[in-house]
Amino acid sequence: MIALPDPPNVLWLDTYGEYEPEESLKGEVTVDISIIGGGYTGLVTAYELLRVEPTLRVAVLEAKSIGYGSSGRNGSFGMTVIGLGFGVTAMLRGKQFLKEAHAYMERAVDSMTELIQRENLDCDYSRPGFLRAATTSGYVKRIRHDIELMQSLGFDGIYWIDRDEVRERVNSPLYLGAMWEPRLVLINPAKLVREEKQLAMRSGAAVYENTPVMEITSNSSFSLRTPGGMVKAEKIVFATNAYSHLFPHLRRKQVPAFTYMIATEPLTPEQLEPVGWGGREGVEDARNLIHYYRITPDNRLIIGGGPVGLTYANDLNADDSESAWRHLEDHMALLFPSFKGAKVTHRWGGPFSVTLDLTPALGYLGDKRTVYSLGCIGHGVSTSHLNAQTIRDLLLERESDLLECPFINRTVIPWPPEPLRIVLAQGIRGYLRVEDWIYERRMPRR
Ligand SMILES: Cc1cc2nc3c(=O)[nH]c(=O)nc-3n(C[C@H](O)[C@H](O)[C@H](O)COP(=O)(O)OP(=O)(O)OC[C@H]3O[C@@H](n4cnc5c(N)ncnc54)[C@H](O)[C@@H]3O)c2cc1C
Repeated sequence: MIALPDPPNVLWLDTYGEYEPEESLKGEVTVDISIIGGGYTGLVTAYELLRVEPTLRVAVLEAKSIGYGSSGRNGSFGMTVIGLGFGVTAMLRGKQFLKEAHAYMERAVDSMTELIQRENLDCDYSRPGFLRAATTSGYVKRIRHDIELMQSLGFDGIYWIDRDEVRERVNSPLYLGAMWEPRLVLINPAKLVREEKQLAMRSGAAVYENTPVMEITSNSSFSLRTPGGMVKAEKIVFATNAYSHLFPHLRRKQVPAFTYMIATEPLTPEQLEPVGWGGREGVEDARNLIHYYRITPDNRLIIGGGPVGLTYANDLNADDSESAWRHLEDHMALLFPSFKGAKVTHRWGGPFSVTLDLTPALGYLGDKRTVYSLGCIGHGVSTSHLNAQTIRDLLLERESDLLECPFINRTVIPWPPEPLRIVLAQGIRGYLRVEDWIYERRMPRR
């Protein structure tokens, strides 16, 4: 088990205030279910298990402190998008897959909302809706095609808004129109995941932080070795997302790719006024390597995306990228000229989990005592919340319509070993970049 790098300068973690991690595991404990990874997936799975079977003994083991993984550093969008978007998903997996997957994702956003409201989680929740903005005429065509596709599959509520209307909402000189999708929620990622820790613990789960699982052996039960102790468990969950390749059992199911973000200081009324943005919608563009951005409750712009990092042999030391951060600053100035020169206070990045067919995967690993979840391709905030219910139903072998979702118990095409893996990953990224370049060749240059 390799050491995970220290967390970068993440806005959400930096502005969280004092945080007291739980004690690491010392000695031996025996539980019914042990969950490896304390992000949304792991913590909400613990909660969902104990909601239906309060006497279960459940332990969550987190290698660092809660919020270390993507759940503490993401772009804060809980959305219905999977993979690289509607059109690409239909092309790769077919329309029926898209239809079922999108229905799952709508339910994911709704169930995340229900959880936050039912349990009163303090996480700066809002539901402002989503704009996918077209910044070139090619993207206008792509977005309009996606809207027609979704409408033909029976999803209403997703529609085109023209250039004047989108600029009335969010005024960027680049916008030529946008797709409107009402189901986007925004949260503060670190607050949410740490509230979920409290929730899991209130429900009866034990949470151990700074407790990396170093080795797993299996006989009639599992033994999970950590630096200070051992957990014996009847069943285990790999809720390790972009870190899953660290376990031999999951090595080839996913690779980590890196996305980068910046946050400005709180913007002044003079900077914000020309842009409007009174609805505070979450916005993405229509690229393959998307840009995603929003205004925070304290009026910072956060923007992420664009360049995606890949590393040889899945090296995890790539949470920073000067060139990606520079690109994001330049893009911010192009999108919103009045924000040009705003001081950037936070720059960070982190791994997201990528399967070879760019769609999520969860299910049993071998027998029914082990469940894994990975591959949310940068769109796992809402998914991980509903996945937690699905994982619960798999573990408890409950009858459940969630198990009909096409991500569940599917065949995952393995990534090849190095050096083929990096060649293939760079080839896919290269193709996506070239396509973006073709769509953007007449756009103003940075
Ligand atoms: C910069 C960034 C921006 C993103 N933006 C968005 C967004 O706006 N919207 C969206 O939907 N998705 C976004 N994502 C993806 C999203 O955050 C993830 O899909 C989601 O948080 C996954 O949650 P998780 O619980 O499955 O994984 P994680 O939150 O990554 O949790 C996995 C945990 O496992 C732990 N772990 C690893 N190895 C071990 C071990 N051996 N023992 C114990 N614990 C271990 C890690 O420390 C980690 O905390 C973004 C991701 C990144 C990196």
